[in-house]
Amino acid sequence: MSHHGTFDHTTTNAGIPVESDEHSLTVSADGPILMQDAYLIEKMAQFNRERVPERVVHAKGGGAYGTFEVTADVSDFTKADLFQPGRRTEMLARFSTVAGEQGSPDTWRDPRGFALKFYTAQGNYDLVGNNTPVFFVRDPLKFQDFIRSQKRRPDSGLRDHDMQWDFWTLSPESAHMVTWLMGDRGIPRNWRHMNGYGSHTYLWVNGGGEKFWVKYHVKTDQGIEYLTQEEADRLAGENADAHRQDLFEAIARREAPTWTMYVQVMPFDDAPDYRFNPFDLTKVWPHGDYPLIEVGRMRLDRNPEDFFVHIEQSAFEPSNLVPGIGPSPDKMLLGRLFSYPDTHRYRIGPNYTQLPPNRPHSPVRSYSKDGPMRYEPARTGAVYAPNSYGGPAADTARFGEPAGWHAAGEMVRQAYTPRAQDDDFGQAGTMVREVLDDAQRGRLVGNIAGHLGDGVSRPVLERALRYWRNVDKDLGDRVATAVNGG
Ligand code: NDP
Repeated sequence: MSHHGTFDHTTTNAGIPVESDEHSLTVSADGPILMQDAYLIEKMAQFNRERVPERVVHAKGGGAYGTFEVTADVSDFTKADLFQPGRRTEMLARFSTVAGEQGSPDTWRDPRGFALKFYTAQGNYDLVGNNTPVFFVRDPLKFQDFIRSQKRRPDSGLRDHDMQWDFWTLSPESAHMVTWLMGDRGIPRNWRHMNGYGSHTYLWVNGGGEKFWVKYHVKTDQGIEYLTQEEADRLAGENADAHRQDLFEAIARREAPTWTMYVQVMPFDDAPDYRFNPFDLTKVWPHGDYPLIEVGRMRLDRNPEDFFVHIEQSAFEPSNLVPGIGPSPDKMLLGRLFSYPDTHRYRIGPNYTQLPPNRPHSPVRSYSKDGPMRYEPARTGAVYAPNSYGGPAADTARFGEPAGWHAAGEMVRQAYTPRAQDDDFGQAGTMVREVLDDAQRGRLVGNIAGHLGDGVSRPVLERALRYWRNVDKDLGDRVATAVNGG
């Protein structure tokens, strides 16, 4: 139907009027179908190729477009164009679960992806975070194993709590994140009522070349709300798409959700002597040490016109860092800088940056060329650099300053150099004792015991009880009593 409400005639993908929406071309009404029915074959062949491979992680999600507006002045800390006072930048957000497949329920207990793409005047800036300030592992070599332990068994094709707890308890660095996951925030009521965190530490560089370490906090203005395990289980059966639907319908009702972005800023020279490694993804920086500084507000007010085009084919990559922002020595972040663009090249194809959700709103003058499904003509004139024919040339004087840090030493395979307060359980214990109230602690015990009571074998269960006693002795004892039916 056209936008004016009248029906236009159907065409082939080549724009040719078709003869029928209902009948294939046959030899007489009751005879065989003809291979020369190019329209039938186009429809079947296109249908057979309709899916791109789903994401290995974060397969199920939803998202919307919006605007990010700077409401404070952080120009002392970064020269990034999008964070300059008064700037407004168009953006896209995608929220997701991590372990489930495309059709999986939105309300499974799982972290939520919180991926933001800002279409800045200096190219796309992607902040590919989660609704958690920390993560399960701190080295990218363990990420694939971690994800396999959370997904399906090779034999039965079933998910398996025994695999999950086996991996977690053999990887004590997961304790902070698992505590978080088993608490109320492990199942948000919907995407509008959860926070996002950049989780990693990033580098900011100001106009004078001064460097700072930052962590992003994107706090919901709707207020935090969660689902109990029982509510989530019920919803999983009643409406597997509850969160996707909630966001879409809220925006359609013109109830545009907003979030306020803050950063914690650590002076560059604090990092070497901080009491734990500030680049360790399993740790937060206590607010008491580094308070939140307001940056701006994001508002999501435009639904995708076509879910597949704008959300399924959206591609976020932590390597999209703009001038004024750089990576930190967080090993997980450094691994992700490679992993995300690599997965997009495989999943959508090498020209994925030309698709509507991924296309920068600023000019592209790269020397990459050709490849499947390329439709933007090369606009560089010459197809190589350097050239004498007016093609673009890197402006090293303006952009050549590396947003980096000093690194030198032997090539090794080692954990981060130990520091005084690096232990795996400390911050998890602080959360349990100092952040949660009695009711929250009670639900945490119930959620852990319920999860452990579902198919976790003896040796893993014993280890899990030690793990929780390491987080907090009293919590571990209560979990033990609950799983032993006490
Ligand atoms: P604060 O008391 O300043 O911060 C505690 C933070 O915990 C709150 O600001 C809130 O984060 C978050 N929080 C509150 N309820 C829950 C919950 N049910 N589940 C998960 N998070 C919750 O103390 P510190 O900064 O010293 O941190 C103490 C502990 O709090 C940390 O060890 C960590 O476990 C946890 N935490 C700390 C965060 C940080 O960046 N410092 C962020 C999140 C958790 P928010 O304001 O982001 O909603």
